[in-house]
Amino acid sequence: MDAPIISDINLAPETIASALNAVAAPVLAASTVLDLQPLPLARSNAPKLSASLDDLVAIETSGRLSNYGPVNDRFEQAMLKQVFKGRGCCLSVCNATIGLMLALKEAAHRRSHRAGGYVLMPSFTFAAAAHAVLWAGLEPLLVDIDETTWAADPVEERRLLDRDGERIVAIMPYATFGSAIDLTHYDRLADEYDLPVIVDAAASMGSLDEQGVAFGSGSRHTIVFSMHATKAFAVGECGLIYSADQAAVERLRRMGNFGFEGARSASMPGLNSKISEVVALSALIKLRDFETQAWHRMHLAEVYRNALGSCQLQDARGQRVPYQFMPALLPKGMASHREAIIAAAAAQGITIGTYFSPHIQQQPFFAPLCHAGRLSCTDDVASRIVSLPISDFMTVDDAFRVATFLDGELGRLRCRT
Ligand SMILES: *Cc1c(COP(=O)(O)O)cnc(C)c1O
Repeated sequence: MDAPIISDINLAPETIASALNAVAAPVLAASTVLDLQPLPLARSNAPKLSASLDDLVAIETSGRLSNYGPVNDRFEQAMLKQVFKGRGCCLSVCNATIGLMLALKEAAHRRSHRAGGYVLMPSFTFAAAAHAVLWAGLEPLLVDIDETTWAADPVEERRLLDRDGERIVAIMPYATFGSAIDLTHYDRLADEYDLPVIVDAAASMGSLDEQGVAFGSGSRHTIVFSMHATKAFAVGECGLIYSADQAAVERLRRMGNFGFEGARSASMPGLNSKISEVVALSALIKLRDFETQAWHRMHLAEVYRNALGSCQLQDARGQRVPYQFMPALLPKGMASHREAIIAAAAAQGITIGTYFSPHIQQQPFFAPLCHAGRLSCTDDVASRIVSLPISDFMTVDDAFRVATFLDGELGRLRCRT
């Protein structure tokens, strides 16, 4: 039997344990592998669809499977009420990538019927963000990040807006790893430069800002959340667009249904971004248990913060960041040891990732299609970043074990160099 790839973050622990044994048993003392639970980078906590048979039967008998049906309505309303305290408007989308594409296309369409233009966005983000810009017929203009928050550097943003102003059609900041970015800064940029702001909040469902309010709540910008299997709010393939601007959300809703307005006649650019009723039910079920899960992730992150003596951590903003994984920077000078550290961790059953390395400008498909300012901080952070395991199933002891391992490994490397 082929050993499954250990870095697949969706594998069950038993599968990973057997894979580890197959790979590592010949070279490691058996006890090292067998006694410790494998710690994958992330592990989806599936919504318990099987425990809601009545709701599934109701979908089957309703004859409504999609097209913003009754369960989808319930999901959007529940998110609005429970997460955003009833202010604004929610729209389900089939994933955040499509959600970002829709919002970008709408921004470009409203601004000018001519194609093209730049979107100001950080390079330290996931490939999906740059793909969305390109699918919308636009070009990424990459801005450097701040060395503490790892989100777009506000001084650099202004410099590029002043330099390339006429060509820029939208600003797309990323709320890095779910940490709350300062949305009032984007209110000012939107007004001063007369530009739409689309926030990539893919990792932010469950994030609470400094006032303890859900990130994005009350904002007139378009905030796009992911509910992908690997995010904290794991549904599978799903996403949510939020804005206090109801008319903007309703435009996106029509665009997400082929650009139809009333009759089956397209009055704007469109595609299909709808979710099926069963997905909406999954998402509703997820919402039921999510509050506890989000706090659990925050607690694991705090264990990491207290125990990771030798790494630099994100200056995380807000009262709660329900981390998808724990990001940390290896000390300066240790970047060249990252691969060896990841391999040593794998031998202990600990999966370490490197989000986002390579960053956008370093990826061969994007490099020739992007414009960029200076990216020195992005280069530095990407070279040293590691992503450490977090999941709903991990215990405080598990997080402590990973932190102790990493600190020990760094100490050993420091002694040798
Ligand atoms: C996960 C992620 C996305 C894409 O979300 P999907 O729902 O999987 O399409 C976009 N941007 C960032 C920063 C992400 O982490």
